[in-house]
Amino acid sequence: MPPADPAKTNDPSCQDDFDPASLTVAEARARMSAAIAPLRETERVPLRATLDRILAADIVSDIDVPPGANSAMDGYALRAGDVPAEGTRELAIVGTAWAGRPLEVEIGPGQAARVMTGALLPAGADTVVMQEHAERTGEGVRVGPGTRRGDNVRGAGEDISRGETVLAGGRRLSPADVGLVASLGIGELNVIRRPRVAFFSTGDELRSVGEKVRPGEIYDSNRYTLHGMLTRLGVDVLDLGVVRDRPEDVERALRRAANEADAVVTSGGVSVGDADFVVTALRKLGRIEFWKVAMKPGRPLAFGTVGKACFFGLPGNPVSVMVTFYQFVRPALRRLAGESVHEDPRFSVVCLSNLRKRPGRVEYQRGILEREPSGRLVVRKTGAQGSGILSSMAQANCFIILPLESTGADAGAMVEVQPFFGIV
Ligand code: AMP
Ligand code: MG
Repeated sequence: MPPADPAKTNDPSCQDDFDPASLTVAEARARMSAAIAPLRETERVPLRATLDRILAADIVSDIDVPPGANSAMDGYALRAGDVPAEGTRELAIVGTAWAGRPLEVEIGPGQAARVMTGALLPAGADTVVMQEHAERTGEGVRVGPGTRRGDNVRGAGEDISRGETVLAGGRRLSPADVGLVASLGIGELNVIRRPRVAFFSTGDELRSVGEKVRPGEIYDSNRYTLHGMLTRLGVDVLDLGVVRDRPEDVERALRRAANEADAVVTSGGVSVGDADFVVTALRKLGRIEFWKVAMKPGRPLAFGTVGKACFFGLPGNPVSVMVTFYQFVRPALRRLAGESVHEDPRFSVVCLSNLRKRPGRVEYQRGILEREPSGRLVVRKTGAQGSGILSSMAQANCFIILPLESTGADAGAMVEVQPFFGIV
């Protein structure tokens, strides 16, 4: 066998990019999840302030919603037996039931009551004929066939019945949830306290917005994307600024972050360069779980603990920061926050671009998902996919996820997408 050519083994064009020392995305996620203990402390907050908070315990209803059968329409309440099979029939009107003002008269055979939407169904009635399907005749109302027993009636407890678990603990409360809780007459809830997340950027080349940049320096954008992504998650954020590439500075920042927060997120300094001190600092002050994941962009990636805080050391490149945040930090922080985490929706669509990829890593390319005039849902990639091209994230509205062994996709092939958007 010819001796291994050292130049060859480092060849960046090597066809298979798999590094046996790296973890798969799924393994990395599973290890993070196993290492993170959800927060338990709760606080009691007024209902309106519970939006996007994590519900601490199940909510069980002690009432029926709606509490009684009521009309779903403006019309006439009557007995289904009085609806003629053919022709029309005139019924005597015995009163009016308003929403909030029930009619205390029982409806007998041959009788009807005028009802408004939301009014309790008067005793004796079991059906509502829509106003548009009835004809007023002075003292009475004339109805025809076509309405069946129970039509246009909302049954007692049809939304929620007494004793039912309405919302499960661990849920992130949506506007619908908050409304549902209000429909039970509950004005305060126990939610899990928000995690506090400290973050900082590392790099001698970084300047903050408002400072002057000299040759070789760039503005720090990662603290801004991180601030945005963390804020969207609903955690309390603590921005510790830019930390220089000096071991003692990185250690000092890590110590402070670990003292003040439940989780620490850093960017930069996790590679094998001579100015990459994050991993060594973490080894000294805490514990490191891994630092290579078979993905692009994104490896290297560090995860571990410092004191009581969990630690995420993201790469420095701006796109890598966002991809690793969404793929790992977000689910991990949701778990820490006490949220029951479900997989984000993904689905397959036709890809209009040719996508190049090497096997051995999962790729998260940036895509634009849209509906063609024909109605077909398609995706195309944003322009260049370099991990420093943050504008690709700004243009994109989804990730195109190419699996580990994929060698790319030709235009017309189906690819998996993970959309960025959601309306609630
Ligand atoms: P590093 O992981 O520290 O080697 O950084 C990788 C690349 O990302 C370098 O080109 C850095 O200049 C760039 N970078 C690191 N941190 C930031 C930041 N906070 N904002 C913008 N670019 C960054
Ligand atoms: Mg750096």
